[in-house]
Amino acid sequence: MKTEISHDVVIVGGGIVGTTAAYFLSRQGKSVALLEKGQIAGEQSSRNWGSVRVQGRHAEEVPIMLDSLNIWRSAETQLGESVDWRQNGQMLVAYDEPHLAQLEATVFEQRRFGIPSRILGPREIKQTLPYFEGTGCVGAMFNPEDGCAEPQKAAPAFGRAAVRAGVAMFTHCAALGIETRAGAVCGVQTERGLFKAETVVLASGAWTGRLLKPLGVKHPSLWIRGSAALTTPLDIEMRKAVVWGQTAYRQRLDNRVVIAVSEDGFHDLMLDSFIHGISFLPLAKKNRHLLRFSLGRPFFQSLGGEFSTFTRHRTLDPAADHKGLDKAKALFLEEYPDAGTIDYERTWAGYIDYMPDELPVIDQPTYPGGLIIAAGFSGNGFGLGPGVGKTISDLIITGKSTHDLSAFSSTRFQ
Ligand SMILES: Cc1cc2nc3c(=O)[nH]c(=O)nc-3n(C[C@H](O)[C@H](O)[C@H](O)COP(=O)(O)OP(=O)(O)OC[C@H]3O[C@@H](n4cnc5c(N)ncnc54)[C@H](O)[C@@H]3O)c2cc1C
Repeated sequence: MKTEISHDVVIVGGGIVGTTAAYFLSRQGKSVALLEKGQIAGEQSSRNWGSVRVQGRHAEEVPIMLDSLNIWRSAETQLGESVDWRQNGQMLVAYDEPHLAQLEATVFEQRRFGIPSRILGPREIKQTLPYFEGTGCVGAMFNPEDGCAEPQKAAPAFGRAAVRAGVAMFTHCAALGIETRAGAVCGVQTERGLFKAETVVLASGAWTGRLLKPLGVKHPSLWIRGSAALTTPLDIEMRKAVVWGQTAYRQRLDNRVVIAVSEDGFHDLMLDSFIHGISFLPLAKKNRHLLRFSLGRPFFQSLGGEFSTFTRHRTLDPAADHKGLDKAKALFLEEYPDAGTIDYERTWAGYIDYMPDELPVIDQPTYPGGLIIAAGFSGNGFGLGPGVGKTISDLIITGKSTHDLSAFSSTRFQ
């Protein structure tokens, strides 16, 4: 069926950013179409490990993240369903004095935003996490106001609430291109026909650069493969914090633990690696000990043009890094020897849309008029997502944001 219908706003992408933007816009009375090439939250938004934190973020992101935390706090009441939100705090553990000194400096720096992080000594860590045995641990930074939510529940719940408020949601409906007239957007061409609108929001995650290219807007994002796993229920309890220790983990209410490969960045070489690679050299140099590269199937898929169309990969589903996950399990066991044998019930991976400066693009470029870009969250967009959705809604409803968005401008790459 070919459609030609008009909305005030067309949003491309049904991740946490697209669904929350749709939710806030519809509550302001806008008519919104939400287009998703696969299923809602099929890509990054359901594949992350659920950490929601303001602590340790880039300063530029903190004001939006504080808004986001407020949205997370009231989300279950607003949405009328559970997203397993828990404000149980986040702890970042230090194993040497220089790292602890860095954390102390971060605690001090964050005070200007009113972030109540504090430094815990090994004894206080043990009070929060009785089974923690991290040998050599010298302290930790702890923010009691951070928390976590269940990625597989959150964006779908915002999507359902948006539909109840009137949003027209189209899944398995890929946007093929942005239509423009006289220097402004006038709609989105999709595999189901033309969706007309004077405002188009690109919340299209890892695919955003491909939609922007024909418009001449540069978006030098590379895909970093992140992996995580879910254990069987554990007999030990560690729910009083989301922890960034030797690896990153959080215990769910059902006693299972989500463990993430937190430090290593795994990059599958693709055509884009050679196109955008130069922009990433400073970041790669800084993180050279943590970066790993692979030349395999994704490279040949990109050569064959598989990632240049929006209908070939409805949902990016890269292979989990089993070696990394085995290492993460061993590191976890060093911190929790009483956990016994750990079996992974499920493992998965997702492609993270990484930017060279690790900051997203949240921008209304001057050309084409009516376009809003919100992508490139560099591994931190789940927690930030609802705040970004609200920011997008403010930009559309009032023409401005209460936040300074200059650091997120797309002009920094032009
Ligand atoms: C393993 C892993 C762990 C992570 N851990 C955390 C964490 O703990 N905390 C945190 O804050 N962040 C984390 N992140 C990052 C976080 O998941 C992302 O930053 C966030 O989900 C991005 O949301 P999004 O809506 O921008 O993009 P996505 O969730 O990727 O959604 C974009 C959507 O757009 C759709 N789309 C793209 N192109 C088109 C098109 N042409 N037409 C129609 N639809 C289209 C895609 O199919 C996709 O569903 C992690 C990511 C991964 C992969």
